[in-house]
Amino acid sequence: MIHRHKGLGLTTKTLCLTLAVMGLILSVIITLSESYKQLHEQTRNLATSEMESLMTSVRLVQQSESLGNLGVRLTSATTHSARRRALIDLTDRMTWVGQLTNRLARQGGEPELIEQVRQTLHQLEQNTAELNLSVSERIDGNTDPGLQRHIEALSSNNRELSGQLGVLVGYFSANTRRQMVSQSEMLASDIQTQRYNLIALSLVVLLFALLTGIYFEFRIVRRILHLERTVRSPKVDIDAFDTLGGDEISRLSKTVRSYVQRIQSHEAQMRKAHQEMTYLAEHDTLTGLANRRHFQAAARRLLRESRQPLCIAIGDLDYFKRINDRYGHAAGDQVLVDLARLLEKGIRESDVLARFGGEEFAFILPVGSLEDAQKVIEKLRTRLAEHSIAAAPNQSIHLSMSFGLALVDASNLEQPLDDQRLETLLDSALRAADEALYSAKHNGRNQVELAPETLYANAI
Ligand code: GH3
Ligand code: MG
Ligand code: MG
Repeated sequence: MIHRHKGLGLTTKTLCLTLAVMGLILSVIITLSESYKQLHEQTRNLATSEMESLMTSVRLVQQSESLGNLGVRLTSATTHSARRRALIDLTDRMTWVGQLTNRLARQGGEPELIEQVRQTLHQLEQNTAELNLSVSERIDGNTDPGLQRHIEALSSNNRELSGQLGVLVGYFSANTRRQMVSQSEMLASDIQTQRYNLIALSLVVLLFALLTGIYFEFRIVRRILHLERTVRSPKVDIDAFDTLGGDEISRLSKTVRSYVQRIQSHEAQMRKAHQEMTYLAEHDTLTGLANRRHFQAAARRLLRESRQPLCIAIGDLDYFKRINDRYGHAAGDQVLVDLARLLEKGIRESDVLARFGGEEFAFILPVGSLEDAQKVIEKLRTRLAEHSIAAAPNQSIHLSMSFGLALVDASNLEQPLDDQRLETLLDSALRAADEALYSAKHNGRNQVELAPETLYANAI
């Protein structure tokens, strides 16, 4: 009986495994895509905003360095036009510094530092405005030593403030550089982490694929090969089928096993029928003795193989018709069966006994001479004559048999007999025995008669 739906089938398991592998690969793809997106953003950030901050702070450094020189130019101006040019350049630079500072503030520069820069710039603007006024007075002709000292003080203040601005802005660029270095290091370490993650995930997928392969090898491929080997073997062992599980292969094994069982049972029936047919083709159904066909086959074989002469004897019950007439056909049959057993007991294993037809029996006795055979048959004849057979309840009868014997010698042949000569020799021997039997009947029955001459195969 085939059990269905016992546990998960191979189709379901295959589907689950395929989905699991697909899910694993998909999650790897998503994880990778996410981490690359992050890395991409970090790199872009580094390349744009951090780089811009660095550029801005570098430019700021340049601007603030030139502020000091421009302050000197303003202090040393001797004409109004030189003073104005220096003032315009200074104001220009300071405006630039202001704008760059604002940009840095937008780019996320440190607020405290930006505030300090703004204050210093503001002080510088005020100091520059005052210096401009004092220098203008001096150009207009005021030679007051007090004014000159005031200009020098303002000028030195201007240099100091420009220097301070340069230092503050220098911090910016150093900070930005440090930030960039630390961000680059973080990026490098992130990339390394992602690399390890990728390797680990790939190993997991590989391991899973390997386990899936091993599973398929053991749960499917090997079992199919085992089934194929079991069925292919010349003598199929029913117990070797793998039928314990409930999956498709076990079900297939069960189906194949039931087919094999049916085939084996048919084979056994056919073998038995063949044996019966062979038996029937070679035996007499009433007595179980060999029939004429088997007798002749045995005679041919012995004539070919025997190293000594063979005696062919034919025995016929005397007046058997009377038994049938008196006791009935069934009693006659039983007499024939009893007679067969009695004759069987009187011969050797190597001899052949057959029911030749009706109440006629034939013998093949490998012997040294016809006289030896005569002794054996004579003993049989006397035993039968002395024996009483039950023909009916409380009705035992005495029977007698007449025998005709012929000796045939096919031993010591230089060349084996061909089929045709063999057939002729056998026919002649049977005819000679039959003629001797006829003589026995004619001479009064219950006697053994010998053929006058030995039949030599050489003479055929
Ligand atoms: P003879 O001494 O001349 O051989 O006389 P006989 O009566 O034995 O010979 P005959 O040929 O006249 O008769 C043979 C009888 O054997 C005839 C037949 O009914 C009988 N018989 C042949 N085969 C069987 C058989 O299988 N069963 C039985 N019950 N009788 C058989
Ligand atoms: Mg007869
Ligand atoms: Mg007879």
